[in-house]
Amino acid sequence: MPLRQRQEVQEVLWERRLIMDACVILKESQHGLQRNMIDHEALRVLTRLDEAGYKGYLCGGGVRDLLLKRTPKDFDIVTDARPEEVKKIFRNSRIIGRRFKLAHVFFRNVIIETATFRAQFDVPPPEAEGVPLPTRRRTDVPDPTFATRGGVIVRDNVYGTPEEDAHRRDFTINGLFYNIADGSIIDYVNGLRDLEARILRVIGDPVMRFHEDPVRMVRAVRIAAQLDFEIEESARKAIMQMSSEIQHSSRERLYEEMLKILNCGSAKSAFDRSWKKGLFQKIYPSFSTWLQTPEGQAAMPWVKKALRQFDVWKQARLKPMPALQHALLFGPQIEVMTATLVADGLVEFEATLQAVHTVLRDKTNLTQIPKAMVFDVERIMGLQVQMRKSSGQSRYAIRLRQRKGFEEALIYLKFASGMDAARKEVLARWLAPVQSETPPHKGAAQTPTAAPRTTKRKRSPTRKPGKSAS
Ligand code: ATP
Ligand code: MG
Repeated sequence: MPLRQRQEVQEVLWERRLIMDACVILKESQHGLQRNMIDHEALRVLTRLDEAGYKGYLCGGGVRDLLLKRTPKDFDIVTDARPEEVKKIFRNSRIIGRRFKLAHVFFRNVIIETATFRAQFDVPPPEAEGVPLPTRRRTDVPDPTFATRGGVIVRDNVYGTPEEDAHRRDFTINGLFYNIADGSIIDYVNGLRDLEARILRVIGDPVMRFHEDPVRMVRAVRIAAQLDFEIEESARKAIMQMSSEIQHSSRERLYEEMLKILNCGSAKSAFDRSWKKGLFQKIYPSFSTWLQTPEGQAAMPWVKKALRQFDVWKQARLKPMPALQHALLFGPQIEVMTATLVADGLVEFEATLQAVHTVLRDKTNLTQIPKAMVFDVERIMGLQVQMRKSSGQSRYAIRLRQRKGFEEALIYLKFASGMDAARKEVLARWLAPVQSETPPHKGAAQTPTAAPRTTKRKRSPTRKPGKSAS
């Protein structure tokens, strides 16, 4: 049967939930994904699983991106080996997670996440709470492998078949498998069709799936922006209606998602899309409300330019510190708040630190911004005050140039001077060569640092964009 026809049959059957095992398989010669496109370490994990008699499938964004001829951020693997069995095969591995138990296989520069096929389940939509769970699990006894709280999954370690695993993934384009055994692509969810049509479609009912895990709404917006895909209509409507459910998500996960947005290479587009859907406003309510005041509206070009700058850095394979990104993104509000505090009589330096704290640690923010990062933003913003007050040549200035965070502070100043002519003179002072015998400051040689390759690399805290904000 031709591919398209098979897909149509599969779609009808899946929609009617008549059968679960409809699946499209593309042979190695029928798709563009070749073994040599997969990172060495991921390939090693896949082949060793295969040699040990287990299924070894590449899954998620790795398959999606390779089929789209993009470079994947990481390579995720799924297998029928249990985490304990994976651990036996790979001495260089560790079992992690509580909600989702999986194995991490460690290599020198990279960790390969290796999960076990998980079972499918159904959780009732919000309005059906109180109705018995339509699941084959008993609900009258505590289950060590699965638990929900108000319909939101809090523990889920029930192993299943590849097909069940595919159906519990978030979007059809993320539900494809590449089978190392024969090089085929296995599609249980019509992901190939949506990849071709450039549509981001939720697997199953969007309302139910977003209710189970509201972070999926943020993922939808980010992945669609990254790939320049359209979000399918029912999912788009669900996001508009359910955006406030994002408050039920873990603040740590949302922070991680926010970092992914800032570094996805389409941060500006992801911001525009999430703003349009009212999602960004739910994650950062105070900042968003401020952005809608006259002062905030005047700052919008700055915010958008900052987001575009992150995309330029990504394109150049530079990895800015999250603190610099947060300083640039929230800078306009921090600066306006500082001015108000100064008008109230506070010293400018103190006012700046207070404003950073107030904006970033705002209780209504749904992301958990780590304290260490808030300190780093304080450094960058505090240095702006100190740089403004110094000639750039004094002994004090030379000490400032040696300070932690100076490089980022200088990048912030360069960016700000592009938005505000008054800062150009300050910048010129700090870009002028140092007229002393003292050794040059560490920020003087701003060489770009290449960003790490794909996959979940161990993060180096020193990777910074050593390039000017241009
Ligand atoms: P990228 O790595 O490029 O950011 P990705 O889709 O690979 O995108 P990961 O976070 O690496 O994202 O997740 C790997 C895969 O795990 C996804 O492709 C998807 O199949 C599944 N997945 C991730 N998060 C969820 C979720 N919240 N609900 C259901 N499935 C998920
Ligand atoms: Mg991935």
